Amino acid sequence: MSALPPVNTAHRLQLDPIATPDRLLLGPGPSNAHPRVLQALARTPIGHLDPLYVELMGEVQELLRYAWQTDNRLTLPMSGTGSAAMEATLANTIEPGDKVLVAVKGYFGLRLVDMAERYRAEVVTIERPWGEAFSLEEIAAALERHKPAILAIVHAETSTGIRQPMEGIGDLCRRHNCLLLLDTVTSLGAVPLYLDHWKVDLAYSCSQKGLSCPPGLGPFTMGPRAEAKMAARSGKVPNWYLDVTLLNRYWGSDRVYHHTAPVNMNFGMREALRLLAEEGLEQAWERHQRNAERLWAGLEGLGLELHAPRELRLPTLTTVRIPEGVDGKAFSLHLLNRHGIEVGGGLGALAGKVWRIGLMGYNSQSQNVDRLLNLFESELPAFRSGGVHSAAVAV
Ligand SMILES: *Cc1c(COP(=O)(O)O)cnc(C)c1O
Repeated sequence: MSALPPVNTAHRLQLDPIATPDRLLLGPGPSNAHPRVLQALARTPIGHLDPLYVELMGEVQELLRYAWQTDNRLTLPMSGTGSAAMEATLANTIEPGDKVLVAVKGYFGLRLVDMAERYRAEVVTIERPWGEAFSLEEIAAALERHKPAILAIVHAETSTGIRQPMEGIGDLCRRHNCLLLLDTVTSLGAVPLYLDHWKVDLAYSCSQKGLSCPPGLGPFTMGPRAEAKMAARSGKVPNWYLDVTLLNRYWGSDRVYHHTAPVNMNFGMREALRLLAEEGLEQAWERHQRNAERLWAGLEGLGLELHAPRELRLPTLTTVRIPEGVDGKAFSLHLLNRHGIEVGGGLGALAGKVWRIGLMGYNSQSQNVDRLLNLFESELPAFRSGGVHSAAVAV
């Protein structure tokens, strides 16, 4: 022992046990987890090849199929956040030189472009301003012009609060022999989604928005047409961790070790999906719509303007225009520091222009809407006409 060099204690923080405050997370995510999900997470882990765990894996897969309305065999939660599942849809299907058409109408469309380029796709884009959706005609014209192998589009654009209408897009893609890839991160469990009916070939989501879990898992699904493209690859999937051919040997019937599953996160996911099935999909969708409408009416009643046109508004994410003369950041900091409520700010083209209010999963409740509306009513006036700036808000 005497030969050991002295230990460097420069980084040895002496900390109290963690004691984070209970916040109400009404921003773009994460959203609060359901208390039952938190209980599930706190259970003693079991082995990731334990027969009981293997049974739980099947339950999670089956309930994800329900939530997405798909029969896809390859449906599983990626160990990673929504972005990992996003990357998995691209990594498994793109071969270098494949043409990928990305319909960009906000921040997450741009992320799809960045990722597809990294897998050496030939990426082409169509764009709409941040706050609009694509018409079927625009998509038809772009498919005709570019003849892509994959069309990627975001169903619920969290940066703008816009829902992309899906009717007819899948049929167009089939006609052009193109895969349809859909980002359902801010819609799964909260906004009507019919993957098979819409003829979606690839989709992904996350645990921390509509599903009432903490962040950490990224649901992924792949239909038969995408599976066929993957099977016809000339080389290996260029990402070992996200390779569905390997992952399916663990999630499929072989149960071959790939990586150690985040067992407790999957306990939480099972509980979240169980709660969703208990409530019923239509009921959950209806609850999100009802509470969002309560929020919209309340905000408009206070004279605030909503950024998204009513027919395209997401029930999960509302973009509210920051009134002239108000320091939006100062008000959201005030809500966080004084009232323990998080709302989001704008991203990209909407930076400094909107607040983003999320009502997702467990948080979509009328009392949360009323609590926030009351604060907008009582506290916002002091921030109007340059009343308070972020620099002046005490932390
Ligand atoms: C949150 C989000 C993502 C990314 O998910 P992470 O869990 O943050 O990795 C992707 N797409 C959309 C539309 C999102 O809202």
